[in-house]
Amino acid sequence: MLKRVLIANRGEIALRIIRACRELDVETVAVWSEADESALHAQLATRSLCIGPAKAADSYLNQDAILSAALASKCDAVHPGYGFLSENPDFADRCVQAGLKYIGPSGDVIRRLGSKAAARMLAQSAGVPVVPGSDGPLKNARQARTLAQQVGCPVLLKASAGGGGRGMRQADSPEEVDKAFQEARAEAVACFGDGELYLEKLVVNPRHIEFQIMADTQGHVVHLGERDCSIQRRRQKLVEESPSKALTPALREEMGRAAVAAAKAAGYVGAGTVEFVLAPDGRFYFIEMNTRIQVEHPVTELVTGIDLVKEQLRVASGLPLSFAQEDIQVSGHAIECRINAEDPERDFMPCPGTTAFLHLPGGPGVRVDTALYTGYEVPPYYDSLVAKVLSHGSTRLEAIRRMRRALEELIIEGYPTNASLAHLIMHDPQFVRGRYDTGFLDQNLVRLLELARTCDRLMEEES
Ligand code: ADP
Ligand code: ADP
Ligand code: MG
Repeated sequence: MLKRVLIANRGEIALRIIRACRELDVETVAVWSEADESALHAQLATRSLCIGPAKAADSYLNQDAILSAALASKCDAVHPGYGFLSENPDFADRCVQAGLKYIGPSGDVIRRLGSKAAARMLAQSAGVPVVPGSDGPLKNARQARTLAQQVGCPVLLKASAGGGGRGMRQADSPEEVDKAFQEARAEAVACFGDGELYLEKLVVNPRHIEFQIMADTQGHVVHLGERDCSIQRRRQKLVEESPSKALTPALREEMGRAAVAAAKAAGYVGAGTVEFVLAPDGRFYFIEMNTRIQVEHPVTELVTGIDLVKEQLRVASGLPLSFAQEDIQVSGHAIECRINAEDPERDFMPCPGTTAFLHLPGGPGVRVDTALYTGYEVPPYYDSLVAKVLSHGSTRLEAIRRMRRALEELIIEGYPTNASLAHLIMHDPQFVRGRYDTGFLDQNLVRLLELARTCDRLMEEES
């Protein structure tokens, strides 16, 4: 097993990794920016080191500072978490060159899958269906327009280096392709420093279904079932659940096999996620593979009973997976709600502030992953995710009821959050029936927010 792991991240995921390490008797070294001196990850690790100023570019993205910290503190491995450097192939390479184990796939594999245009072709070569679109990157807007005419509009112009729903534009007719192309390219350059685009036909009213993959260095590749992440706002996930109401056992098996085939074709090692869109007619298409632990990984942990972060550590230390495909059993149903410090009433503007009061839900079937504590000041420099509230029940309905009451117990004072929106989603008839697609939230947002205002007003009148 590894002896000492540097965690190149912050927030709840840094705590999640610290917890897995402690249970395996692995020491941890946390790194923190000047804005994170009082952050929990800096306090709970075996040791912690400051790596620079608040701005992510100067700290959590500062490869030199992180590598120096890892070597100076005699770590034998680096865990990148999600976001930040987690999908940066050069960072993975540099860790290995410095004699450190990188907890994730090799730089080559990250590179191969990191270009989403190239990953599409890789999936295709493994016999995995992809959305009709371009073979690799687009040369120019004219080529995009010709392709759009061939595959039929609407189409999506997507950034090869994209993530977090950024760098994507829809064109409803060939005439709109030029504008969509320029806008997508500009956003891709601004967000990812890389303007490469590819084109996909828009799958209408799809569900986002992704499969959790674990692979070891001995060549075993196993999937741990799916997560349905169709509750999205502007192509960013808000609620995730497993299993998906949209899959039959036969479709689950077929998609699982496709996910494993894609991972095998890439030479995958470690934890990863193969993402698909599922059309209403039951056809599914590969969209990308994320080469890291995912925000929503606890959903899978709850239904499979497997600790994915511990498994990452096992694999990185050269051990085989502790389970085979036939050992994976999905038990009950799990849901995650992402709680962000943001104001739904002001177009979800991030609203960091001081956590004046905090009460976290508990009891049977509830899990909360957060780095918050009462008095903690959420810094404005990073992601607005402040907590993940999860419920697990023997049935989907029990998981929904548990999530409702967990969100009722949750109190975060000091800044607005999207928690009451999540609570309303848990009461929405379409959600309760499990009949929703990726358009659900954007279509119902105005109505849900109006409902939230009415509830607030009634409660004020009562009190
Ligand atoms: P997941 O696919 O795990 O659901 P996302 O794709 O939303 O999650 O991204 C995971 C996390 O990484 C989020 O917190 C997001 O804000 C962040 N993130 C996504 N892309 C980037 C990027 N290019 N640079 C930095 N952070 C990113
Ligand atoms: P990111 O790297 O930002 O996560 P993805 O390619 O995974 O980008 O797409 C993000 C979301 O956008 C998906 O979850 C889905 O809702 C939507 N999407 C992406 N591609 C398509 C498509 N071809 N048709 C319909 N929806 C799509
Ligand atoms: Mg994605």
